[in-house]
Amino acid sequence: MAETAAYDILITGGTLVPMDASRRVIPDGALGIRGNSLAFVGARGDLPPGATGARTLDARGKVIIPGLINAHSHLAMTLLRGYSEDRPLEKWLETVWKIELAHMDAATVRAGTELAIVEMIRGGTTCAHDMYWHADAVGRAAIELGFRLANGPVLADIIGHTLAELEAEARAYFREFSAHPRLHGVVQTHSVYAAPPEMLAKTRDLAREYDLALVTHASESRQELATVREKFGKTPIEVLHELELLGPKTLLAHCIHLNDDEIATLAATGTSVAHCPECNLKIGSGIARVVEMAAAGVNVAVATDGPASNNDLDMFSELRTAAILQKGVRHDPTVMPAAEVFAMGTRNAARALGIDNLVGSLEVGKRADVVLLNFDKPHLTPVFDVYAHLIYSVNKADVETVLIEGEIVLENGAFTRLDEAAILARAREAVKVFG
Ligand SMILES: [Zn+2]
Repeated sequence: MAETAAYDILITGGTLVPMDASRRVIPDGALGIRGNSLAFVGARGDLPPGATGARTLDARGKVIIPGLINAHSHLAMTLLRGYSEDRPLEKWLETVWKIELAHMDAATVRAGTELAIVEMIRGGTTCAHDMYWHADAVGRAAIELGFRLANGPVLADIIGHTLAELEAEARAYFREFSAHPRLHGVVQTHSVYAAPPEMLAKTRDLAREYDLALVTHASESRQELATVREKFGKTPIEVLHELELLGPKTLLAHCIHLNDDEIATLAATGTSVAHCPECNLKIGSGIARVVEMAAAGVNVAVATDGPASNNDLDMFSELRTAAILQKGVRHDPTVMPAAEVFAMGTRNAARALGIDNLVGSLEVGKRADVVLLNFDKPHLTPVFDVYAHLIYSVNKADVETVLIEGEIVLENGAFTRLDEAAILARAREAVKVFG
């Protein structure tokens, strides 16, 4: 089987954390990559004899993890970071929507998205969900910069388009991008309060027709619950359930204000949740019942939400917050064990977005989205439990090398295909009209 031992990229040494179902950790690991996929995952000693790589990466002293997956965001809002602060959610949305309506054209959205992608790759994130305007511009930015994206046009009443126009836009997007290996379509609507029932039903039907994940916001604030109660006489989860939007390919962002019945409904329908703890804290929306959701069997992923309400796209910091927040408010350090929190930023997020057959763990046949962390640092020495370090001690500055779709996009801290300085300059230029 000599022909199977030649890899395009061979990574050897270092602690390998595959995040497969076993949660095993391989102390002296190796990854063999062929094309865009993983062809070998295991101990270095188990590599086929004479294994070679056209490129070899020495990972000794490093930790090798699957790329982090940000399960919910609004990437172009990097341009609105710090613009409207210390306000309640509804007031914040009002200010932000005003700027967005006036200035967020396709070129500006693209500038903000590129900035987000630079930030995310530097932070070890290889895939993100995005919910924003000009989804086609966002998709093209991801393709050009080599980033993996779960994205699609948003059906919502706030954009001023008819339902037929929004549907046509969604179909055009899926037609243009469905064959691209780094782009994964999702069908999305903003929320129960920002879409009439026929728009929610259309979102459901499109998701079924294209067999894609369906993403929306739900139960984020008390005000939202009051608005939805007034309009429908129900909670957002009850409305979504009644209209048959819940299911194993549905991802709900936030889900802060849930009662026991609603958690049971999410579990019974197989619905996933994107938990955004830092955004929820900063906007003062509350603290999601993540421990109860996980115990009930709900698939919980962690996400940053938009960088204007977080205020970053840093998944390591988000995972740490997710872990310590629940321990603190419950007076119980045993909840949210580190390995399970790390799953919320990798395999659970992939499942939530309907792409767990491709990414979320390092397993043979999956796409090679890989991050090498430099553990030769004072705050990461010594190592007793690598998962504990990944959640409580690692930060984004420890990210050294990043591969997406089998391509090295960041090597020893330097970008290989994107021009970081030019992207930062375009972002500064784009916001000059915001006032
Ligand atoms: Zn959001």
